[in-house]
Amino acid sequence: MSNKKIVVGNWKMNPGTVDEAKRIARKTRRAASKLEHTDAVVCPPFPFILAAASRKKYLHYHLGAQSASFETGGAHTGEVSANVLRDIGVEYVIVGHSETRREGANIGDTDETVSNRVIAVLEAGMKAILCVGEKNRDESGAHFDFVKDQMRKSLADVPKLRSQDVILAYEPVWAIGAKESMKPEDICEMAIFVKKIFSDIFGNDSAQKVQVLYGGSVNFHNAADIMKIGQVDGLLVGRESLNAVGFVELLKAVDEVKY
Ligand code: PEP
Repeated sequence: MSNKKIVVGNWKMNPGTVDEAKRIARKTRRAASKLEHTDAVVCPPFPFILAAASRKKYLHYHLGAQSASFETGGAHTGEVSANVLRDIGVEYVIVGHSETRREGANIGDTDETVSNRVIAVLEAGMKAILCVGEKNRDESGAHFDFVKDQMRKSLADVPKLRSQDVILAYEPVWAIGAKESMKPEDICEMAIFVKKIFSDIFGNDSAQKVQVLYGGSVNFHNAADIMKIGQVDGLLVGRESLNAVGFVELLKAVDEVKY
């Protein structure tokens, strides 16, 4: 386990107004500044990233984005480059979220575009939060091969030296936006598994350092158990990150977790 915990709030295409974005960000950074062992990262939609920033530096509060173009600039209408994100203060970028990978999605990610985005994010000097996870699972255990394949393809071009800037987010697609999270015992099994694959790709020394997050219906009630029993370094949180009261409680609960 890494000694620093991290909680990433994925706001998706929310909230509806800049005032609401400012309100959620303000509450989150105040809570983050009181944390001791945990970093909080907020990933608003692009137009709200600067609204979530503050002139004053808040400890343990960081800006993230939900994706980045793999192009560096030029004639790419509608895209936002990793360098531009870095320039406005973004430090983390979510890459390959299942909502950008799913069929018919606006972004339409494939393992290849995800791999290109990871490289673009790392080259711009930010950390890539790489999302992997099976769509469904059954008794056959096919989900292990699915996740292994996703990881191998998405990390195909990352040099070992840059692997330290990759964060792995295991997010079983069936648990995102659901009523309940995956069972913490099963999360533990997958956390060990993704570390093992990371070790096969980059070596044991890199795998010792990589942070593994879990995402999928995390809230302030289940966060501590998921961290402790699931043996993860952090959480990727959707809906609860927009509920300022719940998210503040979640951050406190994670910060108090002792493994
Ligand atoms: C997510 O958006 O990555 C996510 C895990 O969403 P939720 O927490 O709402 O399930």
